[in-house]
Amino acid sequence: MSKNNICTLYVVVPCYNEEEVLTETTKRLKKKLETLIKSKKITEKSKVMYVNDGSKDKTWEMICDINQKEKLFTGISLSRNKGHQNALLAGLMTAKEYADIVISMDADLQDDIDAMDEMIDKYYDGCEIVYGVRSSRKKDTFFKRFTAESFYKFMSFMGVDVVFNHADYRLTSKKVLNNFSEFTEVNLFLRGMFPLVGYKSDVVYYERNERFAGESKYPLKKMLNFAWDGITSFSVKPIRLVLNIGIIIFVLSLIMLIYCLVVKILGKTVEGWTFIVGSIWLVSGIQMLSIGIIGEYIGKIYSETKRRPRYIVSENLEEKNK
Ligand code: UDP
Ligand code: MG
Repeated sequence: MSKNNICTLYVVVPCYNEEEVLTETTKRLKKKLETLIKSKKITEKSKVMYVNDGSKDKTWEMICDINQKEKLFTGISLSRNKGHQNALLAGLMTAKEYADIVISMDADLQDDIDAMDEMIDKYYDGCEIVYGVRSSRKKDTFFKRFTAESFYKFMSFMGVDVVFNHADYRLTSKKVLNNFSEFTEVNLFLRGMFPLVGYKSDVVYYERNERFAGESKYPLKKMLNFAWDGITSFSVKPIRLVLNIGIIIFVLSLIMLIYCLVVKILGKTVEGWTFIVGSIWLVSGIQMLSIGIIGEYIGKIYSETKRRPRYIVSENLEEKNK
């Protein structure tokens, strides 16, 4: 669809045990969508798509009920709890069939829904991906803020290209989502994967609010798992680290070997010392180096098995001139 026409928006919202927030979320999103439709920014076919991630409470019943009453709301349900990232992916891949642009956000509306206007404007200005970025986290607890910000810093130290303070509140076009479906990896870290798709992108800043009801579904344990997943699915830097340590220890072992020989020649050792100390250094140096080299190959295998697309063609004049 050309960007001169107005487009259809789907808002994808993963929900896991969110019965406490759904009524309020629906009210607020309904108002938002109605305003956007009225101001002719999006078509009347636009919708909110709730993704029930195998909730154990009344979430799915509520979604079905909302769908009956409100034509702006629809939903899909996963057969069991698969986690936020999988639920989000399921929503995005389903919504792309109906929508020209999709915005993903959390059910608790911690991310300011008014930032959607600016996201859509940036899309009409030619951006294919618009990242929502938290300008401040004043309303998060100190603990959440500290852990979350350390998370982003550690990720970039570990060689993962992430947009600082961007969670999964983002606008993506149908084109991007179609390309994205070629990323077939199983360990998802969506916020790190979208930058790999490329295209013109931009950021929109907003203030993050408190959760207005219910509890966080991302306790520290899940967050650490998520960070670990992010690093290990994105970067071979930890493997490089092992190789580098291997090289350092190997060089050190050569120095120690020379030292041992010098001490022996000077006659300051007891019988057998040179042999024992020398072999400990040499053998551990060689071992560490070998592990690093094996790691390099494993790193290669790992990037091969992900089968990420090697390139994405963004424009083809041959198609355009048809
Ligand atoms: N969520 C999900 N599946 C899960 C855990 C969470 O779909 O297994 C959803 C949840 O319903 C919410 C979003 O992911 O819409 C973010 O969760 P939450 O707000 O609890 O995380 P926090 O904002 O505390 O990091
Ligand atoms: Mg939240």
